[in-house]
Amino acid sequence: MSESRLWQRLMRLAEIGARGDGGVDRQALSPGEIDAWRLLLSWATEAGLEPSTDAAGNLFLTRPGRDRALPPGLIGSHIDTQPTGGKFDGAFGVLAALEAATTLPTPARDLTVVAWMNEEGSRFAPGMMGSEAFADVRDLATIRAARDAAGISVGDALDALHAAFPDMPRRPLGFAPAFYIEPHIEQGPVLEAQGIPLGIVTGIQGKITWEVVIDGEEGHAGTLDMDRRRDAVMAFARIATRMQRDVGEADPIVKFTIGRVTVQPNAPSVVAGRVVFRIDLRHPDNAALQAHAARLEAAALAEAPPCAVTVTRLVDAPSNDFDAGLRDRLAAAAARLGLPAMPILSAAGHDARHLAPLCPAAMIFIPCREGISHSPEEWAEPDDVQAGAALLAAVVEELTT
Ligand SMILES: [Zn+2]
Repeated sequence: MSESRLWQRLMRLAEIGARGDGGVDRQALSPGEIDAWRLLLSWATEAGLEPSTDAAGNLFLTRPGRDRALPPGLIGSHIDTQPTGGKFDGAFGVLAALEAATTLPTPARDLTVVAWMNEEGSRFAPGMMGSEAFADVRDLATIRAARDAAGISVGDALDALHAAFPDMPRRPLGFAPAFYIEPHIEQGPVLEAQGIPLGIVTGIQGKITWEVVIDGEEGHAGTLDMDRRRDAVMAFARIATRMQRDVGEADPIVKFTIGRVTVQPNAPSVVAGRVVFRIDLRHPDNAALQAHAARLEAAALAEAPPCAVTVTRLVDAPSNDFDAGLRDRLAAAAARLGLPAMPILSAAGHDARHLAPLCPAAMIFIPCREGISHSPEEWAEPDDVQAGAALLAAVVEELTT
């Protein structure tokens, strides 16, 4: 294991899509991601790994094992970023996996590094499209129909990606791996505060998102009587206030966010005819998650009149627990390596969520400075990067010997 090589590769990959402020903007299925694939391919093929892709635009780099009929072990993460992303979110997991697959002795089974398509969901929403298609959580036709802000569909962008690699073998969508391990920065403050370099992730908290459409009636701000108005902005204000009271302030663990609001026509002297907003709700306990979800939906229906309201669930992902046996194995390997480790819940979503139903799955977290992520300020210390990669390599070696 070469510490300097992994670190140098992280910094080299961060040059693709580099922002002037030290951050990275490398959108899913963009020319930057195609360049990033070329860079990964140059490193992988030099090490004897076999590249392949699938219809969902996931990239696989396989270290051939002694028995190629066995299901492969799968390790990795993603290489797309938020528009104001950093150098480590996703990239750390893919490059730590590449390092493990490159340096281990010949494995008993194939060992495959994966870079999932569109984890972030910033160009094409929602995210985790590659792992969702792989795990058959969402069908590919639906995914291909999604469009970015410029009107380009996932389907067209996927076809362009594949056209850039005409010789790359195409594998069928989805397979049952022997195991899946995803290393990632924590994106939260816990490990750094505890001074512990490794988190063994217990699970991912559940998440539900909605689109809510409030339909009122446009009118003249100077002439329309107040008692005749069906003002969509006022209905939004009532709904948001009640949601914050009934859910946001009702539970110290819940995370409740209205992150996007659009108003039509959004003119200073027109009573708003329509408001569309998005809700993001998260909770580690599935019963609590569903109870809060019901309260949010009731709040929208109760407070919308005299406007009409439609409430549509976009994502409904329960919390999941990672494989207990794999977590024990990670803890034991960390102890053997002399690296402090602690169990930790993932507050953010990851592709590993979709792999957990398919095979024993786990995640390794490393600290990131002040818990900052999705920001040019995102930073992980070289020693922690090395610790996460070492733990991955140790456990993968155990599982593939
Ligand atoms: Zn990520």
